[in-house]
Amino acid sequence: MQSKPCAGCGKLFHPRPQTPGQTYCASSACQRERRRRWQQARRQTDPDYRENQARAQAAWAAQHPDYWREYQRLHPAYRERNRCLQPARDARRAQRVLAKMDVWTRETSVPSGLYRLSPATRDDLAKMDAWMVRITTVSRPCAPSG
Ligand SMILES: [Zn+2]
Repeated sequence: MQSKPCAGCGKLFHPRPQTPGQTYCASSACQRERRRRWQQARRQTDPDYRENQARAQAAWAAQHPDYWREYQRLHPAYRERNRCLQPARDARRAQRVLAKMDVWTRETSVPSGLYRLSPATRDDLAKMDAWMVRITTVSRPCAPSG
């Protein structure tokens, strides 16, 4: 059997004669990676699988209520990274919610961007000076982790 590059580590390996279509070498790291990719693809394409996994995880979490609290206590860097990433996750979630909401909500939110600021009068606005301002959403600053 000819050798071919492993889809995980890239090193050349000899596929087992019983499995000529083998794409990963036998190393435990590559086999773990193969399973991880398979599960990821399955979650993205199979709603039943995804739902089943979510249910199993929820059941496990219910039986181990202190696991994540304890994990975060023992891994402060993880906790800090998570805290810094949360605003971005919240923003993505808000974006998704916003996309589902009606026009009124969309018009009342101000997206980040470049805006012209000008005095609000009834005079001829074209003759007046205008300021260019940049509006950005402000979120809680994060301390560097590590
Ligand atoms: Zn490999």
